Amino acid sequence: MFQANAINLLDLQPEQVNSWLQGFDTIISDCDGTLWHDDKAIEGAADVLNALQTRAGKRVYLITNNGLKTRHEIWQRAQRLGFQLPNESHIISPTQTIVDYLKQHMTSDQQVYVVGNAAIERALTEAGIKSFGAGQPELLQPNDKWQEFVNRELKQPAATDNVGAVVVGWDEHFSYCKMARACHLLCSNKDCAFLVTNKDAVHKYPSVHIPGTGAFVAAIETCSGRMALDMGKPNPLVLEPLLNAAALQPERTLMIGDCCKVDVTFARNCNLQSLLVGTGSYQLETLHGNPELPKPDVYLPQLGNLLSYI
Ligand SMILES: [Mg+2]
Repeated sequence: MFQANAINLLDLQPEQVNSWLQGFDTIISDCDGTLWHDDKAIEGAADVLNALQTRAGKRVYLITNNGLKTRHEIWQRAQRLGFQLPNESHIISPTQTIVDYLKQHMTSDQQVYVVGNAAIERALTEAGIKSFGAGQPELLQPNDKWQEFVNRELKQPAATDNVGAVVVGWDEHFSYCKMARACHLLCSNKDCAFLVTNKDAVHKYPSVHIPGTGAFVAAIETCSGRMALDMGKPNPLVLEPLLNAAALQPERTLMIGDCCKVDVTFARNCNLQSLLVGTGSYQLETLHGNPELPKPDVYLPQLGNLLSYI
């Protein structure tokens, strides 16, 4: 169709957009920057997502790299902001992808060390998986030296007992002690899984840029010499449960997102068509000025623009 040409749909005839849209029976949409900003829906986005389902009969899934909420909590946010979905299984979130992976790859007596926030622990607990470390600081005690921390915390045989996975997510309490514990667990047991909610490098706000989960992951990858398994976009593994359940056909699926590096790359990795919306960090002008960025197939300034074609 419009392969990697970043065609602005507003430049086409309505019949062309209409027939392009008829080529899909499944729509997967990113959330932050595409449907909402923090806790505020982007104008017109809910009308489009709802009309795609009720008027055009498409199956709709939301996908996010947000590891700060469980799948259920993201579904609740979507409902609250006016996005109607049949149930929470229509949300693809890294915490759930991690839970599904660990249920298949860990035994029931094993536990998880979490460098990350409390949402990861909530998702694991709901699935009956034991974990420790989430949502709390681990720092050297006053007057402690690092050797004392290592002797007290890491040299005990119990430190690695039954730990089947290290999971890393965004962690405002990230510290040397957490890095050392993760490093020790991953180096002392090559069968210990190493999973991360995403590898997003940075979160950009209008007035400030802050380190993303990818920064914490890179630190632990470096010291452990292990590569983390990314349980977020753009890893195509994220889509496998839906593919295995024959819930979608890639050639009839459209991926919508606001980020070239994550969403457009994910679409390419999964052989999906891609629609970039300009409500995040990337607009058509950004693409023209940066030829190294992966180009989407089509573009719209905002998702709400699609309503008149449905
Ligand atoms: Mg986004």
